[in-house]
Amino acid sequence: MKEFQAGRARKSLGQNFLVSEGAIRKIVEALRPGEGLPIFEIGPGKGALTIPLAEKGARIAAFEIDRDLAALLREACAGWPQVDIVEADIREVDFDAEAGKRGWRRYRVAGNIPYLLTSTILLKLPFSAGCDGAVIMVQKEVGERILASPGERNCGILSVFMQAYLGISEVAKVKAGSFMPPPKVDSVVLEFRPGRKDGAPAKPGEFLAFVKKGFSQRRKKLLNVFRSGDGPGRHVGVPGGREAAEKAFAAARVDAGKRPEELGLDEWFRLFEQLGRPGDIKE
Ligand code: SAM
Repeated sequence: MKEFQAGRARKSLGQNFLVSEGAIRKIVEALRPGEGLPIFEIGPGKGALTIPLAEKGARIAAFEIDRDLAALLREACAGWPQVDIVEADIREVDFDAEAGKRGWRRYRVAGNIPYLLTSTILLKLPFSAGCDGAVIMVQKEVGERILASPGERNCGILSVFMQAYLGISEVAKVKAGSFMPPPKVDSVVLEFRPGRKDGAPAKPGEFLAFVKKGFSQRRKKLLNVFRSGDGPGRHVGVPGGREAAEKAFAAARVDAGKRPEELGLDEWFRLFEQLGRPGDIKE
């Protein structure tokens, strides 16, 4: 591979390249390339993950937004015809559609990603029917929040939503010094496996809107969040005012005085049953 100009990391694109052999090995192992499933890689950069995966025979389609990096990596991977380096913005990529074009039925997703896009990228996973698992690096504090059980103080939208549809575990902790240039924060690698929980709503999009609405005013009691039809996710909520809202909470067996971070996953599911689609509310 042609030498990449020193100091030419583009901060705006979150270019912190992984240089720790130990972290690279753990990510590659977690992707289990030996099982033969193809891999979509997000932001391959200089190929820290792409090249060891290619060496293990993995079929890879890697999406890199930086034209120069994509060209360099394409050249470096020329010896592996099963590796496709695509110049693209990951925000525009639909994994299922890409898999269809390539004749892939199931696939895994890998990424040491730009942290500014963490939520955008993670939220794609529950909507990607062909995704058989993902191994993604996130900022340490974000990882802790995603792993927090619903009902714990630091849980949030990503914890509730991702845990409803996926099994999540920690693969490795990665210190800032494992990257070049080092970012200001430590990181953690998470593995996401298919694993829709019993009771999780069939349509993730509706549940995501509902959870976002629930967390839209964290300090308020949920009764007050859901009884008004204003604000984000205003299509959810109770049309019949306070009394109807109280009935719905009672039917869901959820304490209407709780705040969003105090609800367990099953409580979220039951509340969604009652309030997720206003047409379904039984008065
Ligand atoms: N995976 C490489 C590694 O581990 O060394 C690079 C990691 S670096 C943290 C993130 C990479 O994502 C960079 O190569 C950056 O150019 C790329 N990137 C940033 N925004 C992107 C986007 N919207 N779509 C695709 N790639 C993007």
